[in-house]
Amino acid sequence: LPPEQRVGFAVVGLGRLTLNQILPALHRSKNARPVALVSGYREKAETVAAQYGIRSDAIYGYDEMQKMADNPEIEAVYIVTPNGLHRDHVLAAAAAGKHVLCEKPMANTSREAQEMIDACQQAGVKLMIAYRCQFDAFNKEAARLVQSGELGRPRIIEATNVQMMGPDGQWRFKAGLAGGGALPDIGLYCLNGVRMMLAENPIEVYAQAVNPTGDPRYAEVEETISFVLRFRSGVIAHCVTSYGAHEGKEMTVRLENGWVKLDNAFAYSGQRLTVAQRKGEAQSLEERKLSAGPQFVLEIEHFADCVRNDRAPRTPGEEGLQDQIFIEAIYRSAQEGRPVTL
Ligand code: NDP
Repeated sequence: LPPEQRVGFAVVGLGRLTLNQILPALHRSKNARPVALVSGYREKAETVAAQYGIRSDAIYGYDEMQKMADNPEIEAVYIVTPNGLHRDHVLAAAAAGKHVLCEKPMANTSREAQEMIDACQQAGVKLMIAYRCQFDAFNKEAARLVQSGELGRPRIIEATNVQMMGPDGQWRFKAGLAGGGALPDIGLYCLNGVRMMLAENPIEVYAQAVNPTGDPRYAEVEETISFVLRFRSGVIAHCVTSYGAHEGKEMTVRLENGWVKLDNAFAYSGQRLTVAQRKGEAQSLEERKLSAGPQFVLEIEHFADCVRNDRAPRTPGEEGLQDQIFIEAIYRSAQEGRPVTL
């Protein structure tokens, strides 16, 4: 679309993800463009605005989000603040009459997630949760293959998302702002990824969590959590997520007649898809080469298309709410030391 017809986005929160990924992706998008910023730091926002050709009268503080209602250039708002603030910021954007794209995890609780869905529905605006992997060509091809029956029925999934976290002092270690530790931040990719592979929701979860004693970072949130998801179809998925282990992001789906392995499954790029297929006593191994676009651009272009052409987003608020419900069940299971039925 020519620049003046592109969907104008306000970006809320000028942190790492916004500066390194979201603004560059908005700039590259063919049907979207950044037109406003919301920040607690005016000076930083002025610098960023100048970089992206955003007018300085389109910079707002968090307590001024209602004023976005008077700026017709803003059609959508992208919320990129700490998890515990998503609810308030989504409600403010909806109250200003703007469509909302909200970063993952949707919120701290399923109750907040439901409030966000209700507010957007009442305001008549669209709500999408930014599950970027659902727009990745490799993840989509893996899900297609698993669901196609070509390799028989899926039986087992192993999903891992672990990394080493930095020092204390970040909001990610504060329960109020983060809603939890590794689980809502990066374990969510395992949970949502498994649901995407199967197009099915779990019926039972069983989890174990570790908060290393003596490490102040893990006084409020977990470092490591391992959880098993059981599905009505008989599939068992084992997911592990941690802030305390060297980076690893992979998912393997084991089916009756083969397996599908996604390396770097949850990374921004660098996915590799390997498919094994049973051939009598032997097996064939094949690496599927796909041309994958930049995930943040694809996700933004999808939402802009939904706004421009009145379509329903692929990952609506309800998708986020589902995961919040499962996250709560995972925590309850870890706390009570027994499986939790959904
Ligand atoms: P940062 O800490 O780098 O940035 C968060 C920004 O939010 C801050 O810079 C600040 O912007 C604003 N903010 C407002 N209130 C607060 C507060 N009380 N404490 C801290 N910051 C505040 O976080 P990230 O950019 O890494 O994460 C932001 C969101 O994006 C999270 O929900 C996270 O889960 C998600 N995320 C998603 C990823 C993905 O792959 N989809 C990857 C990384 C993060 P300002 O200074 O302008 O006021």
